[in-house]
Amino acid sequence: MRISERVSLVGSGKFGMELSDPTDCNVYLLDGGGECALVDAGGGVEPERIVRRIEGCGMAMDRVRTCILTHAHADHAAGASYWRERYGMKIVASAEAAPWLARGDMDKTSLNAAKRGGVYPPDFAFPACPVDLTVAEGDRIRVGDLSLDVIDAPGHARGHIALALMEGEDRSLFAGDTVFAGGKIVAQRVWDCIIEEYAETVAKLHRLRFDRLYPGHGPFLLSRASVHIEKAHLIFERLELPPNL
Ligand SMILES: [Zn+2]
Repeated sequence: MRISERVSLVGSGKFGMELSDPTDCNVYLLDGGGECALVDAGGGVEPERIVRRIEGCGMAMDRVRTCILTHAHADHAAGASYWRERYGMKIVASAEAAPWLARGDMDKTSLNAAKRGGVYPPDFAFPACPVDLTVAEGDRIRVGDLSLDVIDAPGHARGHIALALMEGEDRSLFAGDTVFAGGKIVAQRVWDCIIEEYAETVAKLHRLRFDRLYPGHGPFLLSRASVHIEKAHLIFERLELPPNL
């Protein structure tokens, strides 16, 4: 589903538009002209459904060379090994998350906790996946003729990055699980969800004044994203917690 000139939504699960497997986060396809990239990998349960969405956008799979992971939670990253092994995509993630991905660490990625909480079935797997490129705040990732600026964005999870992209005059944010439409967040009782870091990240994203928001779940926004991000920011400023998605 093409949602802007350069961005398509090709995966989305039970907290979104159900385009693909229920365990998938929103998976975005960036069209950089000569080459393309995925933002997030999905949960890896039935990634062929995402392939069909990509091809349905008129995109040949051999043009999709990179998969950038916002963070290491299973709904965003357990599909990475499929993209790397089946399509030879280069996997990009933060330096902090890279070793957890490389060994399929089900504690650091909170998959074991999520299974205990009933979020995933007991047999849900996190295949180990080497990371080909690690990035941090200030780095720039090139995808064909597009440039993505990396923003460190901990709070929901450690090793979380967000990505800023200029689309014409519009500033776009690939937010992962930092902030959602309506100013919602996802705060969970896991080891690396740290409220103080979450508030700092939302304050930083608010300062950057984005027009478009492509979040990891739920609806995307094609204008006035900063109004939604401000809602979450102002609640954090009052020392309270914004509503959960
Ligand atoms: Zn997450």
